[in-house]
Amino acid sequence: MTQPQANIGVVGLAVMGSNLARNLASREGNTVAIFNRSYEKTATLIEQHPEAGFIATSTYEEFAAALQKPRTAIIMVQAGRGTDAVIDALTQVFEPGDIIVDGGNALFTDTIRREKAVRETGINFVGAGISGGEEGALKGPSIMPGGSAEAWQTLGPILRSIAAVAEGEPCVTHVGTDGAGHFVKMIHNGIEYADMQLIAEAYDLLRRVGGLTPAEIAEIFAEWNTGELESYLIEITAEVLKQVDATTGKPLVDVILDQAGAKGTGAWTVQSALDLGVPVSGIAEAVFARSLSSKPAQRAAARTLPAGSQEWTVDDRAAFVEDVRRALYASKIIAYSQGFDAIVAGAEQYDWDIKKGEIAKIWRAGCIIRAQFLNRITEAYAADPELVALVTAPYFADAVAGALPSWRRVVSGAALAGIPTPTFASSLSYYDGLRADRLPAALVQGQRDFFGAHTYRRIDREGTFHTLWSGDRTEISAADAH
Ligand code: NAP
Repeated sequence: MTQPQANIGVVGLAVMGSNLARNLASREGNTVAIFNRSYEKTATLIEQHPEAGFIATSTYEEFAAALQKPRTAIIMVQAGRGTDAVIDALTQVFEPGDIIVDGGNALFTDTIRREKAVRETGINFVGAGISGGEEGALKGPSIMPGGSAEAWQTLGPILRSIAAVAEGEPCVTHVGTDGAGHFVKMIHNGIEYADMQLIAEAYDLLRRVGGLTPAEIAEIFAEWNTGELESYLIEITAEVLKQVDATTGKPLVDVILDQAGAKGTGAWTVQSALDLGVPVSGIAEAVFARSLSSKPAQRAAARTLPAGSQEWTVDDRAAFVEDVRRALYASKIIAYSQGFDAIVAGAEQYDWDIKKGEIAKIWRAGCIIRAQFLNRITEAYAADPELVALVTAPYFADAVAGALPSWRRVVSGAALAGIPTPTFASSLSYYDGLRADRLPAALVQGQRDFFGAHTYRRIDREGTFHTLWSGDRTEISAADAH
């Protein structure tokens, strides 16, 4: 019998798996075993990339036999049932101490469940969020692995070798145990939804109020990409807006149907945040904005409803563009602040020791939300690891303070002009809510006590209280009421 030759294996050779396998094979010291349920993809990959030196296998048994111990396999298959099927098959042919890594977009609670079940066999299971799409998988993604510290010992050097590099540091860190990696990847995607929607709202304002063409707006975005907004998403926005449709000669953005799709990770972020009680309003509005766009029947029926709007004329276009830029930056700070709040709450709920500054660091390259700005987040958490809200860190608080007049002008102007800015507006509202001295939540507590005897607390005394609303309306200590 021949000795196993591969130090790493990949199962699932569609877009992501084949690129990740090529990335692994291109790094010194790696020999990669590959397997796909249907052999065609395996055959195509070895034929197109002989330089990779792949060890092609056609059964799970062959795949396991090709791997040195402890066997390490990265699964890149369709999330959900596909992942469960591959895990079942691998646990039949792997042994205690081996490592199964799920690099797909799994829901973190599925990862927690899978990790628990696989651990009982003595095999390590690691859920690893991988961001960067096809290109990232090939050239260097941002990787967010969970799982045990023991698995990380073996896996760490391999993942470091294929990850993107930001300022000399690989964009991968052991995020925490069981589902921590997939949780953080989910929040990354939620922030990505907010970031994209904010950019879209800025574009809409520049076009509809500023009267600029897509090509002119592309130039503005390219310019913004040289400053504090520098990021992959701003960069690609300029590219998309520059693109002219070959068939019609129109800007491509004008011939693309205005109904945004979604694969579900944004909705997962919002659902999880609701469960954790964290207001991720910017992310939620971004998810809802895509849902609204994809309701053609409702939009057609509502198209003739009155606007009741006022004309918004811009005298100083340069000043208006700067207002929009500042509003975008402030809203972006809120989206990230809310995303990190969700990470903190998730870590508390699931007992993960997540280093927030490290997360910002591994998002600096390889992933979709990569941006300069993330260095500032790392610095903020380094200066104060117990920071209660990112937006209160001196750098971000100053940045928002500087943007406030612009932000308010943009949100109020858009409301008067009848232009939807759900993410700009909700972010500003969140900011105003957070900084409020008193909130009308006091009245909500009064209402709750009125109809449901839910009790309230007072600002001047300890304890919980209930008012006898249907009696003489005296206040009693809630303890006396029961
Ligand atoms: P995909 O289209 O999500 O999945 C196709 C792959 O899954 C094929 O290799 C398919 O094998 C395999 N598969 C499906 N059901 C299976 C089963 N029951 N048993 C064994 N194999 C099964 O592939 P992808 O786009 O490359 O994505 C892979 C994973 O990465 C997904 O979880 C995805 O969410 C995640 N991801 C994707 C991106 C992206 O940009 N595409 C970015 C980040 C993360 P056959 O060839 O035999 O059908």
